[in-house]
Amino acid sequence: MTFYSPVITNAKEAADNEKLHLFKYVEDPDQPKVETYESHGGYQAWRKVLSTMSPAEVIDEVKKSGLRGRGGAGFPTGVKWGFVPNDSTKPHYLICNADESEPGTCKDRVLMERDPHGIIEGMGIGAYAVGCHLMFIYIRGEFGHCAEMMEKAKEEAYARGHLGKNIYDSGYDLDMIVHTGGGAYICGEETSLLNSLEGERGMSRIRPPFPAIAGLYACPTIVNNVESLATVPHVINRGAEWYSSLGTEKSTGTKIFSLSGHVNRPGNYEVELGFSLKKLIYDPAYGNGIRGDRKLKGVIPGGSSTPFLTPDMIDVKLDYESLVEAGSMLGSGAVIVFNEDTCIVWALKKLIHFYRHESCGKCTPCREGTGWLEKIISRIEAGQGRPGDIEKIEEICENIMGHTVCPLGDAAVMPIQSAIKHWRDEWQYHIDQKKCLVKSEFAF
Ligand code: SF4
Repeated sequence: MTFYSPVITNAKEAADNEKLHLFKYVEDPDQPKVETYESHGGYQAWRKVLSTMSPAEVIDEVKKSGLRGRGGAGFPTGVKWGFVPNDSTKPHYLICNADESEPGTCKDRVLMERDPHGIIEGMGIGAYAVGCHLMFIYIRGEFGHCAEMMEKAKEEAYARGHLGKNIYDSGYDLDMIVHTGGGAYICGEETSLLNSLEGERGMSRIRPPFPAIAGLYACPTIVNNVESLATVPHVINRGAEWYSSLGTEKSTGTKIFSLSGHVNRPGNYEVELGFSLKKLIYDPAYGNGIRGDRKLKGVIPGGSSTPFLTPDMIDVKLDYESLVEAGSMLGSGAVIVFNEDTCIVWALKKLIHFYRHESCGKCTPCREGTGWLEKIISRIEAGQGRPGDIEKIEEICENIMGHTVCPLGDAAVMPIQSAIKHWRDEWQYHIDQKKCLVKSEFAF
C-alpha cells in the first residue's frame, strides 16, 4: 500500500498553499540536515526569542496564537507553559513527548524523520519560556530510526551553536537528551512517561500534583507533543495574529491528519483546523474515496480511542468543538476509515486486544475490565456469543468509563460504546447467527 507522507502531496497543491503549510515535505535526502534547515530560515525564531523576547513574552505570544496541544488533549500550549512557577529553587524541565503509539497516528514519526531541527527549535523556545536548561525528547521504543535522526540532529545543533553554553552569546545555556522508551503505549500519557524517564515502571501517577508543579524528579516539568513544539517556531516567526487567522475561532492553526484504512490515498495531510472530514476522505487531492469503490461504513476521526462516526455524520469540520458536537473527538487527528465490508465485531476485537495488552494494570476497572471485554468480544467474533453479551459489554464499559486513574480506560471503551450504538443489529446478528454479517478484510 502506498502511503502518502506527509504533508503536501503534489507540487500544485504545494504552490497553492505555500502560505498555509508549516511543515514542508520535499523528496530530498538532505532535508533533515541542519544546513538545509538553516537555509530555509531555520533557527531564526530561536535567535529572535533569545535576542529580543523575555520568557513571559514568549508565553504570551503562544497563548495569543491559540495553539492547542496536538497530542490528543488539545490543551492550550501557552497556558500550560504559564503554569510553571517562577521560582528558581528547583530545576525546570521540558519534555517533548514522542511516544506516538495511538493506532492510526503516524504524524510525529514523520516530523522526526523529516523535520528534526524544527522540533529541536520548538523545544528550545519552550524550554526558554519555562526557565529550563535541560530538555528531553522521549521517543517510542520502536522508533529506532527516529531516535537516530534526532540524535544526529542534536549533535548538529550543538556543533552549530544552537544548543549548549551561552547560545548566540545570550547567556542562556540549554542541553538536550534523546531518550527512547520501551515501547509501551501508556508511556505516551505524561505521568507514565515521567515515571519511565526516571527509570521506574511506566505507570500513571495520580494527579494532583500536576507535572507543571511536580513532574520529573518532583520538579516543575512541561510535557508537550512533537507536533505542538514543531509548530512553535512558525508562531514566533510569523506571529500569533497570523497563526490565529488560520483555522476556526477556538481551534486555530493547522493540523496534520493521519488518514488510514480503506481510502485510496492514505497519508499525512496538513490542513487548517475546520477542514471538512468528508473532503479529506473523498477529495482526489487527499483520500480520493474508498478503496475498491466500496461504500463507507464508519470513521474513527481522532485515533482509535475516539468514538465512531457513521456516513451520515461525516459532513463535519475537523476541529475540537465540531467533533465533540458530532459525538466524537479530534484526539491525535488519526482518521481511520472502514469500508462496508468491515466486520465491526472483528475490528473491535482488534482494538480491545491492543488496549488490554497496553493497560499498565494500576487500576482495577481498566486492568480487569479490558480483559473481560476482550474475552467477550472475542467469543462473539468466534461465533460463540451468548444472549446478554451486548448488555454485559455495555455494563463493563460503564464501570470503566470515568473510573480510572488515566484516560486509557476511557480510550478503551469509547469506540466499543459507539460501535454498539451505531451497529447494534450487527452485534446481535453475530450472536444469534454465530457468524458475521459482512466480509471482514480490514487489517490494522
Ligand atoms: Fe493503568 Fe489503565 Fe489505570 Fe491507566 S486506566 S492507570 S493504563 S490500569
